[in-house]
Amino acid sequence: MIPSNPDDTSVLLLGTGGPWVSADRFGPSTLIRHGAERLLFDAGRGVGIRLVEAGEEPAQVNPVFITHHHLDHISDLADVMITTWLRGRTEELKIYGPPGTEEIVDTLVNKVYAKDIEWRSVGEPAFGGWKPVQAKDIEPGDVVETPNWRVSCAYVVHGHGLNFSKKFKNNWKCLSYRFEAGDRVITVSGDSIDCGGLRKMAQDADILVQCCFAGSMETRGNSHLSDVATFTLADAVQAATVAKECGVGHLVLTHLRPKSEAELAALEAEVRQTYDGPLTIGRDMTSVPLHIA
Ligand SMILES: [Zn+2]
Repeated sequence: MIPSNPDDTSVLLLGTGGPWVSADRFGPSTLIRHGAERLLFDAGRGVGIRLVEAGEEPAQVNPVFITHHHLDHISDLADVMITTWLRGRTEELKIYGPPGTEEIVDTLVNKVYAKDIEWRSVGEPAFGGWKPVQAKDIEPGDVVETPNWRVSCAYVVHGHGLNFSKKFKNNWKCLSYRFEAGDRVITVSGDSIDCGGLRKMAQDADILVQCCFAGSMETRGNSHLSDVATFTLADAVQAATVAKECGVGHLVLTHLRPKSEAELAALEAEVRQTYDGPLTIGRDMTSVPLHIA
């Protein structure tokens, strides 16, 4: 057992973009480093590249938490499953996510990549045969726990107010996560607007990794982006308001739409009108240590 050591805990932003393809901002992926453990939240585009760029060993990643099933959050999930194996993963890779995650993982392993996995198992025996993955659908109330940490989740609002069918909405489950080690808390918002689930997860968090796609400089006068801020993803004002009203220790913004340095500065200034605590405008490879007060 690895001893719990909140002094040695940090957040590494592996990908801070979204579905917008970008060489600077890869898909959303956040790594929590706790002692020797590596917990991955989402598996966006390029996650494996960023891991090795950071000097992290992909084989050490376990478990994986998926916030929801948008492409930008799971596009490299198969890469994580297979690359961790090829890099020497010895344990079963645990993957948690909202309802439907088990089906996606089963499809990737047993259909989409079944031939690849069998080929490498037989054709490249040095890898020692397939190391399984174990997916589990989780819901609010479920807790993933080890002697060192616990992770809980809540449903968040991410597009539920848009004009989808009732059936689609009932199946569109999006999670925010709360990681706790001792009395330290790191929240990963997932994709969400300001809502009760997000606030529950973010309450008194030492670090809140918060989606924030744009500031009002971008959304003002743009009906599409304005609708995104209303229904889909928090903007600067929402991110700052949640951080302030939930007593967040350090606000870390991610899931940023591609923008100029001037737009980033305007977004930061806008957050500062509401939230005056430690603030990081995330970029890929930004590391945020969990400071002990
Ligand atoms: Zn999304």
